[in-house]
Amino acid sequence: MSGIQELPKMEITFIDGDFETIQSGKLSKTSSEDGRFNGEYIISVYGPAYKKPTGTLLIEFLEIDFTKHDSFNLFINKWGISGLAEHSATAKGVLLIEYSEKEYQKMLNDIWIECGYILEQIQEKFKNAVYYCLDINGPEWSDNLDPLQRFFLMQERNSSLFDFKEYGTNLSVQFEVEPKINAMTYKQYQNFYNTISDGNQSEAAGIIKGINFKTSETYLSPDIAAILYLEFKQMILNNKLIKLCDNCQRYFIPPRSNAKYCDRPLSEEDQRTCRTVGAVQKHMRRVDNDPLKVAYRKAYKSAHARIHSSKTIQYDERESVFRAWVDEAKARIKEVEKGEISLEQFNKWAKEG
Ligand SMILES: [Zn+2]
Repeated sequence: MSGIQELPKMEITFIDGDFETIQSGKLSKTSSEDGRFNGEYIISVYGPAYKKPTGTLLIEFLEIDFTKHDSFNLFINKWGISGLAEHSATAKGVLLIEYSEKEYQKMLNDIWIECGYILEQIQEKFKNAVYYCLDINGPEWSDNLDPLQRFFLMQERNSSLFDFKEYGTNLSVQFEVEPKINAMTYKQYQNFYNTISDGNQSEAAGIIKGINFKTSETYLSPDIAAILYLEFKQMILNNKLIKLCDNCQRYFIPPRSNAKYCDRPLSEEDQRTCRTVGAVQKHMRRVDNDPLKVAYRKAYKSAHARIHSSKTIQYDERESVFRAWVDEAKARIKEVEKGEISLEQFNKWAKEG
């Protein structure tokens, strides 16, 4: 008989201080994707290891349309299925058996059918919780309250909406202590571990002296709701507020509370981000909606065409005639703004040229 196979679980790790990895033979510091470093990371979710700021999983979870198989698949490809074992027998099976790529795709479809609607319910709960406790532009009453105060209010007043107690039950914790050794070469690092494990006790104790240690806590669960709740709690405790991006309307963690745009690329093809183009696009939208600017732009276009194709104006004079028109048009727009003439009067003037 084979032994009991352990089910892989979804993992989240919180590290205090620096996080280090071995890269090309020597130990080096890593920082988050965007170059900021805040010391709190999810470092692995069964499968590929991600180093992301706390809140990343929760924010991405809220964006999934669980009624769509494609949307569900995108999420699973990134975060794995180990957090679904609690909700889907197929997911549990996938984690314990060997399968071909084709079988896997079939199983993913089964998993989605089995637990898509459960994930939707979990998502709904977190959407509310995030809006009430962490959204900078949350409900009006939340102004000037910190996340703990907001959480307290919801816990007392909306207990049915805020019942997360069950989410915490299916969670195990591993506490670890590791040396801070970012100044070591790979060889020194190997020697260090060799002495610790193979040297005698006093030798091992001796090498420990003068080295500082850091701690990490890894939480494991077969239930993604437990991991999401943990992340949500961590954000509450660390006062990590989020907001909707002014451009793409998706949640992000603003580097400053007045930041308006996220750093997501516009698309696969266009790697410019909301932040780099957001301000420009917003300006364009304002122009698009302002009737005065719309009228001016329309008049500008037709004057440009009329003057530059004129048979009565010499070719080399056209540009200066057009410039003169622009000056006069601007002056008239100012008069409209001051209320001295109406927009209709401006349009009439522009039409008559
Ligand atoms: Zn955005």
